[in-house]
Amino acid sequence: MRRAAWTLGMLALGALPVAVQARAESARVALLPAWVGDHPRFGWSGAWMFPVGSPYEIGKPGPEGSPAYRINRCIGGHEEGGGKHQGADLSCGHGGDLVRAAGHGLVVKAEEHGWNGGYGRHIVIAHRLVDGGLVYSVYAHLQDQSLRVKKGQIVAAGQPLARVGRSGHASSEHLHFEVRLAAGQDEAWQNAEVLDPITFVTEHLPVYEAVRSADTPYLEWAECSALLASADRADFTLLRATWWQMLARAAKQSRDDFPADSDGVRRMLIGEGVLDAAGSSAPPDTLTWAELARDLRRLKKVGLMVARPPLTPAAHRALCGSEFDTPRPTLALDQLAKKKGVPRLGEACVALADLSSSWDVTKKKPKPPAVQGPALPPVATPPARGLQASGEVDSHPH
Ligand SMILES: [Zn+2]
Repeated sequence: MRRAAWTLGMLALGALPVAVQARAESARVALLPAWVGDHPRFGWSGAWMFPVGSPYEIGKPGPEGSPAYRINRCIGGHEEGGGKHQGADLSCGHGGDLVRAAGHGLVVKAEEHGWNGGYGRHIVIAHRLVDGGLVYSVYAHLQDQSLRVKKGQIVAAGQPLARVGRSGHASSEHLHFEVRLAAGQDEAWQNAEVLDPITFVTEHLPVYEAVRSADTPYLEWAECSALLASADRADFTLLRATWWQMLARAAKQSRDDFPADSDGVRRMLIGEGVLDAAGSSAPPDTLTWAELARDLRRLKKVGLMVARPPLTPAAHRALCGSEFDTPRPTLALDQLAKKKGVPRLGEACVALADLSSSWDVTKKKPKPPAVQGPALPPVATPPARGLQASGEVDSHPH
């Protein structure tokens, strides 16, 4: 198996049951699904989170002040009419709370009207796994007029999608949440194999939770973007092989396949103009600030294919000011190159995120939500993550 040495792929595959793993193997094809059409490449999906309540644990309160959610029903139970229940029903006893994207992906359906086979108002997101597989997440019974995303939009894990409701076939207010694994890149979500969504998310949770320290929102973002394998730690110095993996996942390239070894990744990156042939030697030695700055300069030219980073521009600039003595390190690469010591993993994630064009977007005043629902307290955690992949910025969620 070619990707045996590819840690991220190993982690993603290793987390799946054997049958699913075999299916994911067979799902590896070189092309994007036809339904994506000429849509620009959307980034990889690494770590996942729960869409309601706590992102990290069922039964815990959520970051926006939403109460704890419980599993009312999971997959497999018989439905009226003979079908089987194909998702998990997550409920806190009332509607109106935010539903967040479970992973980075592309919105393939955002249905604002109608019964829709019982789903009511619902959203479907396609996610590209690092092993080449395609997974869909489905969010159903959403509150009327609460949808904040549109078909074709790129979304980040944790980004608000809509609010919990009871549209369609629902006897109470809850989120019907599905995860489906496509057998091939062209398989429509309705036909894709139903997985246990709770198990799937639990097995793909990020190691870094955004709330722990200054760098962790960026580490979590890097994990959700599949830039970073969960095995890496924030306080580790940055190994060159890890950095190359991060560059390979972040670079905007039409690519569905990765070399199995880090030297292959190096050669690929040199071929794509991301790495400098003369200045990159073999791993596992550590990286210097000068090398990191040099690689970022080249990556800047190639462009990034990552979801919107986790902080507001102001919070990002403040963090960079304290970590790098400059609010925008990638606008001061000469200064970055002279930084003392060696880069830590967390600092590399912040620097990579700084390349994102989202920091340059002038902030528009967000519109108030069009929904009636219980008033939610102001969001204290990182704001709504938007969607962005180098230049293809959609409107901010509102
Ligand atoms: Zn259900």
